[in-house]
Amino acid sequence: MAGNGQGQGREVLRAVHYRTGEAVTVTLENGLIGSIGKLEGISGEEAASLPIVAPGLVDLQINGYCGLDFNTLPYREELASDFIRKLWQEGVTSSYPTVITNSAEAIEEAMRSIADACRRDAAVEAGVAGIHLEGPFITPEDGARGAHGRAYVGPPDWELFQRWQEAAEGRIRILTLSPEWEGSAAFISRCVDSGVVVSIGHTAATPEQIAQAVAAGARMSTHLGNGSHPMLQRHPNYIWEQLAQDQLWSCIIGDGFHLPEQVLKVVMKVKGEQAILVSDAVALSGLPPGEYDTHVGGSVILTPEGKLHLAGNDKILAGSAQMLLFGIRHLAKTGLADWRDAWEMASIRPSAFMGLPSAEGLSPGAPADLALLRHKENGIQLVGTYKSGIKVMNREALT
Ligand SMILES: [Zn+2]
Repeated sequence: MAGNGQGQGREVLRAVHYRTGEAVTVTLENGLIGSIGKLEGISGEEAASLPIVAPGLVDLQINGYCGLDFNTLPYREELASDFIRKLWQEGVTSSYPTVITNSAEAIEEAMRSIADACRRDAAVEAGVAGIHLEGPFITPEDGARGAHGRAYVGPPDWELFQRWQEAAEGRIRILTLSPEWEGSAAFISRCVDSGVVVSIGHTAATPEQIAQAVAAGARMSTHLGNGSHPMLQRHPNYIWEQLAQDQLWSCIIGDGFHLPEQVLKVVMKVKGEQAILVSDAVALSGLPPGEYDTHVGGSVILTPEGKLHLAGNDKILAGSAQMLLFGIRHLAKTGLADWRDAWEMASIRPSAFMGLPSAEGLSPGAPADLALLRHKENGIQLVGTYKSGIKVMNREALT
């Protein structure tokens, strides 16, 4: 079955390099890019018929997709296997399944289940770059807490975190917390020393507490501008402070519903290459428009435009229902970014930030995790995906 392991054979791909626009040959060898060179002796017409090749997408925050949910326990045994394979349909070759605030036992069970799936299925091991634990050491305050259950929110607890990290067999790579709790700086230092990226989110922290968190090693902002109070003191506040902290990379949800264009523009201008796109997609992403019942949020509506809101109030979002491709198209369509820059915000930038080998992009020695694309009238379309040198998705025949 395709995608269970690493590509053993050698394959030569003819495509247009997403960045340079040049026709190239990409040699895939043993799961890696062996070489990449200019494709000689090709007519303009022939070059125009080639797909575009780009690095595979990397999602640092994703709760679920197509009804598959990392926040509903117990997991079906195939959950992670199905999830990783579904993500290939979206060009996502590495991801950080995201588990949010829950009881200590539930988080432990989720961590253990993901670790079990990684051991059982090589495709899951290759596709899950790590686990993102969002909570429970976040703010108890309404608004900023978002949909996280108040009952399970509390101060950072190293013993507890270690218990979860053991259950995950060391796979928790990102921890979202709020540095408003006493002892946050010491806790952050211990996390960072153990190789965990600490991200600030769902916070009511003061600017001073944000600054102390950064000094202790926090390096990321979780969905900056969302999971915040509806009303904030104009300045100073935790949004300005995170924007102004040069060492913080900003993750943003680029679907067009979570942040207005002005905010996306400002974050991207201020952060430059430290701005990262995430989907923060919930399990209803990938499903057809309609009304759905959720066990946490009650009745919700997914509109034909792709917005997910509470059935009783279209102003209150019920999570993101869009994948990275949608965010990339949104940034390109609105003119906020060239599509190639938007693509990098969701591929090589998150890889570079997390220190993944896929940060090398289309270079010899980098993993052969690739997306094949074509320009269509409604923006860039995915037509194929390679994971570890194996073609795991091919939509060309259908187009
Ligand atoms: Zn969140």
